[in-house]
Amino acid sequence: MRTWKWMFTAGLLAAISAAAQQPADSQAQATQAPAAQAPVTQAPESQPSGQAVATTGAAANSSVADVKSSQPAPIAPPAVLPAPTTMDQVVSLFIEREHGLIKVLSNRTPVVETYLQNLAADPQLGPIPSEDHYFLGRLDMGETVDRKDYLKEEEKGMQTRLLGGFQKLYKIQYQPTGFSWMVYADRTDFDREHYDFSYIRREFLGDVRCLVFDVKPKPKSGRGRFLGRIWVEDQDYNIVRLNGTYAPAPRNSYFFHMDAWRLNLIPGYWVPSFIYSEEGDFSAGVKNKTAFKAQTRIWGYDLKKGGKDDELTNIRVDSVQDSSTAAQDASPLQAERVWQQQAEDNVIERLTSAGLLAPEGDVDHILQTVVNNLEVTNNIDLPRPVRTRVLLTAPLETFSVGNTIIISRGLIDVLPDEASLAAVLSHELAHIVLGHNLGSKYAFNDRMLFSDDSTYENMGFRHIPEEETAADKKAIDLLKNSPYAQKLDNVGLFLKALQTKAPQLSALLTTHLGNALAEGGTVNRLTALASQGPALDLNKLDQIAALPLGGRVKINPWDDKAEMVKTAPVAITSARDKMPFEVTPFYPRLARFGAGVPAPAAAPTTAAANTGAGSSN
Ligand SMILES: [Zn+2]
Repeated sequence: MRTWKWMFTAGLLAAISAAAQQPADSQAQATQAPAAQAPVTQAPESQPSGQAVATTGAAANSSVADVKSSQPAPIAPPAVLPAPTTMDQVVSLFIEREHGLIKVLSNRTPVVETYLQNLAADPQLGPIPSEDHYFLGRLDMGETVDRKDYLKEEEKGMQTRLLGGFQKLYKIQYQPTGFSWMVYADRTDFDREHYDFSYIRREFLGDVRCLVFDVKPKPKSGRGRFLGRIWVEDQDYNIVRLNGTYAPAPRNSYFFHMDAWRLNLIPGYWVPSFIYSEEGDFSAGVKNKTAFKAQTRIWGYDLKKGGKDDELTNIRVDSVQDSSTAAQDASPLQAERVWQQQAEDNVIERLTSAGLLAPEGDVDHILQTVVNNLEVTNNIDLPRPVRTRVLLTAPLETFSVGNTIIISRGLIDVLPDEASLAAVLSHELAHIVLGHNLGSKYAFNDRMLFSDDSTYENMGFRHIPEEETAADKKAIDLLKNSPYAQKLDNVGLFLKALQTKAPQLSALLTTHLGNALAEGGTVNRLTALASQGPALDLNKLDQIAALPLGGRVKINPWDDKAEMVKTAPVAITSARDKMPFEVTPFYPRLARFGAGVPAPAAAPTTAAANTGAGSSN
């Protein structure tokens, strides 16, 4: 049961605001800044089981009859290969590993998300977002087209070949293919016939020692070949990072520059996880004004394959436990509550299996503590505890279904402090307290039968304006009675920052399941708090109104588990360091599977590595 005490837990505060506290005593010039802007991601502590029955909350229930036949088979680690003695052998090894990875992932259909910000130069703040775009879909890693057909002139074919085919989108029309091209260097022709590999040096990426190679396409090896640099870990010789572009570009096409990172999420394989793209030159006199930066994230590798056979997903009818000891029929009110819970469970399970919700985990403990603080200080006693879950996507949104509050990863990322988190959660808690439950139609299980990619067409939790107004009013009452009452200035600042950027960030503010925080460039959530607090001053270094994306929550791309990022604070030295709501490059701290276990001091590759630089084929 709930603890009837509110608390700012030390751990919670540290976790939620390590990146950008605004210490009361901040006379100091530089506050602690949004730390590493890139999500520091590493292999999880616990072993993500390659064979687990997906990531649904129901996975634990072994009575779930419908073991999905389309669940990808567990992945066995690759055979151990003899240690190389020459750099030439290292090249052979990583080519072989790359082909092995392509094969092993060929039956996977992970979720892929790209969030892009177009940039314009601001004389004071440098390049800042001028507009944005958002893409979400499933990536079919199993493209099996005959490569020869596509090596000719056909540009569309080449895209397919490079990408592995970009499948259906979650109701968002765009061609985001380009941003995920670098999941592999070259899907079909990564070999010595098409490329020259030159060893450059050794380098650590995080905890992982790597051999660095430059990769150049051989003359006349075809268009759209990888050109750049790769980092190969020196234990199993998997590629862990790719950085570069593709060349030569086909007519009327354009290849982005990309920096692609992989994580060691399953034994023996490094799985494509993050891709950062950036274009633009803001130096004086440059004519080409094309400028953007984009983050592509891939997750949900362990989701069951969302293929055609699977369009009618079997959803378990949740067996709600009858908690009354006496065998009685439910009263009308009890029946209503059980019904709502069934709907809630259905929705949570369905969103999880679609790769949109993280399984319950660490982040929820923090969210629940904040909700608990609001409840306890307002004497709210609900028949069922309020639960929370993390929506895995970037757009800033919250919604609730039954007694579950859902908040997006992107929104948690940009909130500057715990009070702001409490504010956005309080709006949903208010809906629950006021009985604004929208989800009950989902207690009918036929409503769960749709394909993953049509989730947004089949689910929605948007309230009517009257309920929104009522929830905001109630939320402010809740906040004023809560431990956050003295910190609402920070909430006001956040809302001001959001208002300043809202016209340029319409994609980030376009919600897909819940009500929008802003519409038509105007913030409409908790507006009564928006005038609270000091004036927004971007040049004031100790005023952190909102954070960049990616600094708080990290997602395990294999099992979708969410956890808080642990980063050391980094001092802000100029207004350009603040980057509110912005995307930044990725720089995950790489670690081997089974994290925390340091790599063996003496890798079996010393001989190879010492062979020194030099072109190896
Ligand atoms: Zn609402």
